[in-house]
Amino acid sequence: MPEIAEYDVVILGAGINGCGTFRDLALQGLRVLLLERGDFCQGASAASSRLMHGGLKYLETGEFRLVKESLTERNMLLATAPHYVHPLECVVPVRSVWGGIMGSAARFLGLKAKLNDRGWLITALGLRLYDLYGRALKAMPDHRMLGRNGLRRLLPDMSAALSGAGIYYEGQLSHAERLGLELVLDAEAANPAARAVNHVELTGVSGDVLTWRDAAGRLSQARARVVINAGGAWIDAVNARLGIPSRLMGGSRGSHLIVDHPALLKALDGRMIYFGTPDGRVNLIYPFMGKVLVGATDIAQADPDAAVCTADEQAYLCAAVAEVFPDLPIRADHVVHRFCGVRPLPRADGPVGAVTRDHSIASLTLPGTTVPVHCLIGGKWTTFRAFAEVATDRVLADLGRTRRITTRGLAIGGGRDFPRDGQARREYVGKLALMGGITPARAEALLSRYGTRALAFCATLRGRSETMLTEAPDHSVEEIRHLAATEKVGGLDDIIHRRTLIGLLGGDSPALRAELASVLEGAPERRESA
Ligand SMILES: Cc1cc2nc3c(=O)[nH]c(=O)nc-3n(C[C@H](O)[C@H](O)[C@H](O)COP(=O)(O)OP(=O)(O)OC[C@H]3O[C@@H](n4cnc5c(N)ncnc54)[C@H](O)[C@@H]3O)c2cc1C
Repeated sequence: MPEIAEYDVVILGAGINGCGTFRDLALQGLRVLLLERGDFCQGASAASSRLMHGGLKYLETGEFRLVKESLTERNMLLATAPHYVHPLECVVPVRSVWGGIMGSAARFLGLKAKLNDRGWLITALGLRLYDLYGRALKAMPDHRMLGRNGLRRLLPDMSAALSGAGIYYEGQLSHAERLGLELVLDAEAANPAARAVNHVELTGVSGDVLTWRDAAGRLSQARARVVINAGGAWIDAVNARLGIPSRLMGGSRGSHLIVDHPALLKALDGRMIYFGTPDGRVNLIYPFMGKVLVGATDIAQADPDAAVCTADEQAYLCAAVAEVFPDLPIRADHVVHRFCGVRPLPRADGPVGAVTRDHSIASLTLPGTTVPVHCLIGGKWTTFRAFAEVATDRVLADLGRTRRITTRGLAIGGGRDFPRDGQARREYVGKLALMGGITPARAEALLSRYGTRALAFCATLRGRSETMLTEAPDHSVEEIRHLAATEKVGGLDDIIHRRTLIGLLGGDSPALRAELASVLEGAPERRESA
């Protein structure tokens, strides 16, 4: 058997919770290993609605702690990840003045109630509370309410049946999967004793020693003083591999559509519509990189590996949008991509929609040892840093260590030194263009895509002209090779769906795969990190 490497902490699962905790633990100077069976952020973390949000609907269930934490984290992310988290103006349409008051009161008291109308008053009250809870690190304007005429002027294509709207702001996360990866790369750069490996299979455990197999079939072993199970919806399955029977999780499937619909995109005019539907749910629709993102369903899902976006879900989402934009129907041929994931929710009775989205840790023990196994349950993309902080503090207590550094306010990846205003941005684009020998337009595209990490890529060009791909003409051969060499790429799927947005925007095709395969054939060998 291979030599046994010694680690303070082994984390299993590299969704956003695993990646965030890896960064925090690495910054504390611990020896930490992150093992992911697929790619970084390929599970629920790739399937979210891509909002950094407080969770307006959690006010209805009285989860004020969660809302306050989420709003503070959202505001912080606008500053720490300005390359990928952008302010988004949101519209909550209303159909009446008084609607929803009884239902909201019932939900607040923990009683079951369907809320198929959230009226003007209840919306105004909710948004006022949202403003109050979002005061820490405040980065965006307070809400405002519009009457029927105001809404008509703002969004003339919305249904005439709507009697007004609340306007407020959230954060929109453009490159979710890249943000997770950047946490990993930051951690490895800060601590040489931190190591993250994707595309591995945990094959067994013996006492405090874990064994895994990498993509090339090589076996490795590590001894852990603490294990973190960040397997998301797969937490019980990961526990089973560790020899621990558990029934902690109860997942909920959520599906989204990416729609190529220029008229709908124009009608949205840069805004998200966050709207209630007659079935009592809340759905959303907003512009995403020249397309439109529509989501999301919420359906109990026992086996996370079996989750797919069904034709029924697509029909449901299209019908929901028709409630607010009746003259701009989404047809099947508008849909260029569908994606789906399983929210890692704690096991609970009752409808999945009512299960808390707050995070918690269940602490178990590796069989026959005293090694703690901390299972990171639930949470949101928005609150990953706060959750990682709680998990890290738990581990530090286990190891009798104290915190060296906080992650509060710490810039992430290409968000470091990111230009903050128009003038600074123009100067940065000029610097990139000069360094790479590229046009300002191309430099601007790279800055939007990679933040200040674009500088390292431009340095590799050194005036060599780029060859643009035929099948994805806004990406170059050199860019793809750079990603493959510096960003732990394990295969074409990683590039198409997680290092770039090509797949998400509907660009995956056999022709693209053939072109990328030939581009990567002659590429230099993969380096472990940038
Ligand atoms: C439809 C939907 C919409 C959402 N919208 C939002 C939103 O707009 N804003 C927001 O803040 N949050 C949102 N969320 C919630 C958020 O996405 C999740 O809470 C978060 O991504 C969970 O991260 P995680 O790391 O716990 O799980 P995951 O991202 O699922 O990560 C778990 C990882 O464990 C890995 N794994 C599994 N088994 C093993 C094994 N044996 N060995 C090693 N690794 C293993 C998996 O491959 C996976 O990568 C949404 C979620 C969904 C599904």
